[in-house]
Amino acid sequence: MRIGYGYDSHVFDEGRPLKLGGVLIPDAPGLKGHSDADALIHAVIDALYGAAALGDIGSHFPDSDSKWKDADSAALLRTAIGEVLEAGFSVENIDATVICERPKLRPHVEAIRARLAELMDVPASAVSVKGKTNEKMDDVGAGKGVVVHCVALLTER
Ligand code: MG
Repeated sequence: MRIGYGYDSHVFDEGRPLKLGGVLIPDAPGLKGHSDADALIHAVIDALYGAAALGDIGSHFPDSDSKWKDADSAALLRTAIGEVLEAGFSVENIDATVICERPKLRPHVEAIRARLAELMDVPASAVSVKGKTNEKMDDVGAGKGVVVHCVALLTER
């Protein structure tokens, strides 16, 4: 068994749509970034790469490369999963915590779990997504952006 940990953060950008876990969240500010800025998927990808010791998201999809401008992070996750499988691992489960003051995540959690499970080709029971606020502390608590932590467990096939 191999454990991996991923982290990501993005600041809000009112001019963009919000995507978290591959799901479009309506009536919320989007996130600033080179790709579609899906912080949840980025943290998941880093947890997967970390568990497989395959580097990090920046080494696979550098933001200096215009190829990844406005990239669909769902496609990046599919690529990452392919590499993890290719390296001889299967995904056992992931557990992610999304921290933001807005929007409320709970109404979207089931859709996000289903979408991440679909992208990783695992059952939804292997995908946990939890939403929290930062209790108004620091910049995240001031509503400036979103922070995501994720752990992933892989098994060697
Ligand atoms: Mg990111």
